[in-house]
Amino acid sequence: MPLRRLRSYGKTLAFRLTLWYAGVFAVSSCVAFLLFYTLITSVFRERTDQELLGQAREFSAVLSTRGLEAVKSLAMLEAQAAGVKKVFFRLLSSRGEVFSSSNMSYWQDIDIREAAIKQLARDRRNVFETISIPNRKDKVRVLHVMVGPGIILQIGQSMETDSRFIDAFKNIFLITMVLLVGLAAGVGWFMARRAVSAVEAVTRTAREISGGTLDKRVPVGTRGDEIDQLASTFNQMLGRIETLITEIREMSDNIAHDLKSPITRIRGMAEVTLTTGKGIEEYESMAAGTVEECDRLLDMINTMLMITKAESGVDKRNDEDIDLARLVHDACELLAPVAEDKKLSLACDTPDTCLLVGDRRMIQRILSNLLDNALKFTPSGGSVKVSLSEKDGRETILAVQDTGIGIPVDDLPHIFERFYRCDQSRSEPGTGLGLSLARAFARAHQGDITVSSALGQGSSFTLTLPKSRPPYRPANDKSA
Ligand code: ADP
Repeated sequence: MPLRRLRSYGKTLAFRLTLWYAGVFAVSSCVAFLLFYTLITSVFRERTDQELLGQAREFSAVLSTRGLEAVKSLAMLEAQAAGVKKVFFRLLSSRGEVFSSSNMSYWQDIDIREAAIKQLARDRRNVFETISIPNRKDKVRVLHVMVGPGIILQIGQSMETDSRFIDAFKNIFLITMVLLVGLAAGVGWFMARRAVSAVEAVTRTAREISGGTLDKRVPVGTRGDEIDQLASTFNQMLGRIETLITEIREMSDNIAHDLKSPITRIRGMAEVTLTTGKGIEEYESMAAGTVEECDRLLDMINTMLMITKAESGVDKRNDEDIDLARLVHDACELLAPVAEDKKLSLACDTPDTCLLVGDRRMIQRILSNLLDNALKFTPSGGSVKVSLSEKDGRETILAVQDTGIGIPVDDLPHIFERFYRCDQSRSEPGTGLGLSLARAFARAHQGDITVSSALGQGSSFTLTLPKSRPPYRPANDKSA
């Protein structure tokens, strides 16, 4: 593997997690080994000490019952029985002079321990020592004990059996440790790779998106863990960004197509007047036309801004208690002269009160847009009816029905789009922004507007609004 690739692996989270995992495992195994090792060695030492004390008691009993000579021969016999390389016995005077011992040819390096003899004389307590012999692997445990008046017994016992056991234990531990740390690293690597693979999927998707493909999404697993939550939050964020970018695109398309026409008309008027205008009247009429077109233009720009603000959530609602029945009555009263002029019947069917919490300015605008359209697209002799009802005590439903020209089935899915106008209604004045604004305001209240229509028979627009204060959410947020 090339060095650079190895180095980049070293920087990965999976590698570092594996290292941590294996490291923690190795350290905790070593701690467990040390504890076990200390325990075993102390148990072994305790057992040896008990054996030495047992022998010392035996010697003391023989001395008191059978005398010194019996003790001397007991020392020889015991050493021979156990093996001269296993134990030795020395009998010393209280000044440390040897007056009898077992076969000491193997134990020449173990001298008279003056310090131990002094300590025994001083404290009158048995003295244990662990002695290392030069060039010999196994240590010796030595006991100095007073077995009779002025007689000290020095007993030594090789710790060979214990060392063999401890060495075997060390070797087994080392081999097991190497295997287990290798296994822990493997398992750690597998688990870390599994955990970070989802993060890598997020990174890959983010990279693809930065390359221009906004419709990509991160695959979301079914475990519902933190990584799945990250993936679905990331997808929600992408959805929102995609909506916003689509809207910005639509907006710039709209500006290019629909705002261009009034500007072209203003320019055309000015050009014609400049080339053909002879008197002040022509210039006055051009100025009046320019003011009219500019007002239209301003109105369109303002409406577009309102839609964008409502959809993006910049325009916060000013919620208050509203009696919608009152608002409907006021709107009908205001538009009654228009209906009368057009010879339309305008009926208002509402309960006495209909309370809800919402932004008065926004709801008034929705009402006036729906009523304006109903009156505009209903020929003389027709009728417009506004009705108000409640559903399950949680929703308010406002319906605006007319017997007007209706909307072709093909146009129905598009009428809420910005600047969309059905061909058959182009003879009427309008910008094609009214319904977009109404729906943006309704959605800003967590409500909506739907439509049903039959061509030549009439249309019915239904506004649904929650009665209580809806939580704030941008109108175009489709994440919930
Ligand atoms: P505008 O009324 O300014 O044209 P709107 O956004 O309010 O724009 O409406 C978009 C289009 O939907 C209208 O141009 C019209 O074609 C259609 N429309 C809306 N309301 C009605 C209605 N009540 N009856 C028939 N067509 C309608």
